[in-house]
Amino acid sequence: MFDFPAWSRAGWATHLGGDVPADLAERLSGSTLVAELRQRSTAGPEGTITIDEHRFTHTELALLMDSGARHLAGVGIRPGEAVVLSVPTSPELVVAYFSLLAAGAEIVLVNPAATPDEIRFVVGDSGARRGVAGRSSAPVCSAAGLDVIDPGRLMVEAGPAGLAGGDIQWRPRSTTVALVAYTSGTTGRPKAVPLTHAHIQASIRGAMWAWRWSPSDVVVHALPLFHQHGLSAVHASALSGCSVVVRSRFDPADLSAAIDTHRATVLFAVPSIWHRMLEAGEVRPWPSLRLATSGSAALAPDVFTAIEKNLGMAPLERYGTTESGLDVSNPYEGPRRPGHVGLPLPGVDLRLDGPNAGDPERPEGEILLRGPQVFDGYRGSPGGPDDTGGWFHTGDVGRIEDGSLRIVGRIKEMITTGGLNVYPAEVENVLATHPAVAEVAVAGVPSDRWGEEVTAFVVVAEGHELDPAELLVAARERLSAYKCPKAVVEIEALPVNAMGKVIRSRLSRLVDQGRDLPDPRE
Ligand code: AMP
Repeated sequence: MFDFPAWSRAGWATHLGGDVPADLAERLSGSTLVAELRQRSTAGPEGTITIDEHRFTHTELALLMDSGARHLAGVGIRPGEAVVLSVPTSPELVVAYFSLLAAGAEIVLVNPAATPDEIRFVVGDSGARRGVAGRSSAPVCSAAGLDVIDPGRLMVEAGPAGLAGGDIQWRPRSTTVALVAYTSGTTGRPKAVPLTHAHIQASIRGAMWAWRWSPSDVVVHALPLFHQHGLSAVHASALSGCSVVVRSRFDPADLSAAIDTHRATVLFAVPSIWHRMLEAGEVRPWPSLRLATSGSAALAPDVFTAIEKNLGMAPLERYGTTESGLDVSNPYEGPRRPGHVGLPLPGVDLRLDGPNAGDPERPEGEILLRGPQVFDGYRGSPGGPDDTGGWFHTGDVGRIEDGSLRIVGRIKEMITTGGLNVYPAEVENVLATHPAVAEVAVAGVPSDRWGEEVTAFVVVAEGHELDPAELLVAARERLSAYKCPKAVVEIEALPVNAMGKVIRSRLSRLVDQGRDLPDPRE
């Protein structure tokens, strides 16, 4: 039987570069984001938070946080109240975020570009009555019944001189809910995930430890700040005193220039950003950069290889979920293998569940997680860590190969065709290597004959024409016949969410445009 506890602990030791401290959980999750930001301004170390051209020192931000919190308390916001935050990535968003945390609000993060239906759903589900909303989402938030607070007013009025409303005596604790995140809903209805200060801190602290974080680091990214991944860099800054630079709009040349200008040491990115950076020829061996990460979705091995070639170092892929934070990472020192996400981060217990989970050589099964960053349960929906040991069932299937975790696919995305199981990622990785394929997503489409048919949705590379029959022949060289696509649909662009993740529920609507392929078994 594979020994998951021993494997998890060996992972922690690798990431820590030595012994595992006895007080690991406390070190990961003690304190709060609010106390840590104040600490930066009083005892340091202190860095800066730059959003586009606006730069805050930690001291400036801590003052704005406290006066902003007083303002929010003055308008009646009380600790424990759910408040929607729906503001585009901007300095205003950062001030509103910390002010709401210091006022004790449970921040309901909403993508400001969400549709009226999506916003109405989250407002109704969270029970929020007030929202801090930017210009674009304010009318929709109002229409959904929220009293809207303008984040611009918070910035202007919440100056260091402070505002009326009295001092805030209340202080959050590590067990206080800081955020109510919603699952991305790429396969189903979004669910509310309450996350405490402890969860959020443990999530990023484990990675900071593993990635040899220091106050002199400068982390740059162009990820939205209304999602955990982008926010985690801001959290790292508040927790360590390092500097962070966020570009509010992703443009390959702009991000590349920001890395140079700010002498970035760390870059956070997702596969779709890497893809576009490579396409634009903007991945270079930036002299200041010591670490380039990828997460939130699978990094195709051919993209990994292209990054490594152009960057002069291997990207570091990591894995996590909204519910469990950051959980698994390739080692900072040591091999970073394409297609692998690595070892459990400090504090994370990981095991696999299923008929092949005990295989001593290559265990495979659903990924189960436990640790200080894992949430306590959904709000308003059933589910959460189980009653038999507090394990969170991620819905992802993993395999341990050469001592390191690979993500095989999501259970819900698994295609059952002719009674056999196919994970889209395996097929996508093969099709992506074809020169005519710029981007590809694979999904199962209902079929009378097969139950589901493996269907490829392809964005054709510039200057190429797609010959589906030829694509199939190329795929057949590396995939069993039943895994090969039975139809190819040419599309302009993949339907993706704000994190570049494919929204699979939208793919099947595009299927009518498909062209059937000959069955490779006939
Ligand atoms: P979210 O809750 O929106 O952050 O999505 C979490 C899901 O994204 C996970 O359950 C995985 O299915 C997927 N995911 C995140 N990181 C990776 C990765 N490095 N490789 C493959 N899938 C990933």
